[in-house]
Amino acid sequence: MKFSEITGVDYTKSTLINSVKNNHIAHAQLFLGKNGSANLALALAYAQYINCTSKLENDSCGTCPSCIKFSKLIHPDLHFIFPTSTTKKVTKSKEAVSQSFMKEWRSFIPDNPFPILSDWAGFFGAENKQCNISKEESRNIIRSLSLKAFEAEYKVMLIWLPEFMHPAAANAILKILEEPPAKTLFFLVSNDADKLLTTILSRTQIIQVPQFSDQEITNILQEEYQVEIEKAKHIAYLTEGNLNHAVKLSDEVKDVSSDFFKQWMRICFKNDFTNMIKFADDFQKMGKEDQKSLFQYSLNIFREALLWKFADPALVRLENDELEFVKNFSKVLNEKNLELMVDKLNQSLFHVERNANPKILFTNLSIFLGKLFRIGA
Ligand SMILES: [Zn+2]
Repeated sequence: MKFSEITGVDYTKSTLINSVKNNHIAHAQLFLGKNGSANLALALAYAQYINCTSKLENDSCGTCPSCIKFSKLIHPDLHFIFPTSTTKKVTKSKEAVSQSFMKEWRSFIPDNPFPILSDWAGFFGAENKQCNISKEESRNIIRSLSLKAFEAEYKVMLIWLPEFMHPAAANAILKILEEPPAKTLFFLVSNDADKLLTTILSRTQIIQVPQFSDQEITNILQEEYQVEIEKAKHIAYLTEGNLNHAVKLSDEVKDVSSDFFKQWMRICFKNDFTNMIKFADDFQKMGKEDQKSLFQYSLNIFREALLWKFADPALVRLENDELEFVKNFSKVLNEKNLELMVDKLNQSLFHVERNANPKILFTNLSIFLGKLFRIGA
């Protein structure tokens, strides 16, 4: 992967590029970013750039033999460790190590450069099993690092989601980080530094990978996924910097949340039971992702209304129709009902995920919201 294939995150890119230009490549680096950020993509682009034999001014060339092998994830000096589990194919836990799933990994990553663990687990066939980086993996790490680099100047060991490491694997890494072999780079790509050993954290240089901005997500959806602009903006707003989620939503979710929400709130406000039942029927027919997305959207609008009314209107991230709606909507909200409404919506989101009956859930929620509009009014 080239840096130019990753939209945005310019500051982080230039930090990485400068470290190569200034010959300050730390041997152990932690790419820390939330789910759906560019942390893995940046680590891959960085590894490719470091070893590119005809570097461009601010990127790898993408065409030298090293770049081609890096981009296909087949370079002999590029090693991967990632969470796995037993599967129908790999039934012995001793064999459930990264090496057994390299073929799947190589076809998964190019299509999913911003992966989350559940997507990967679904792809390689973990089904609902817990994935982790097993203690067997520690032997593989030591073995692959005991060899000299085959072709590249730097050997790269990329560990995706080290927070899932078995303590034995973590200790093996720790030993190596204490006495790193020459010309070997460790890239740890993590979503959750709190779950890493502090001794590992203290031995790595941390690269904070920011979330994508709303504008970056909007651009990516428009340019790379041909999503029309209003919908792209709407999805960017819903997904708060998680590109993985944004891409999924652009595929799956019809652009229903906004209109549905506005009409639904009017019905609740008027205590219009007939339409509450009708909307509950419509809600039942939506897919589960759409149901979750509607509640997520609702929570976001409540939060914006809260900002508008009680904090700083300048913090509100909406425009046009949605901004108008929030201005008006915030008139019927107050300190007493807002908090209760948000709690109830959060609970409802939780229950949708756990397969509650959608019709009953939605009807109860509508009646409850209807009552709450009366509190303090
Ligand atoms: Zn190259």
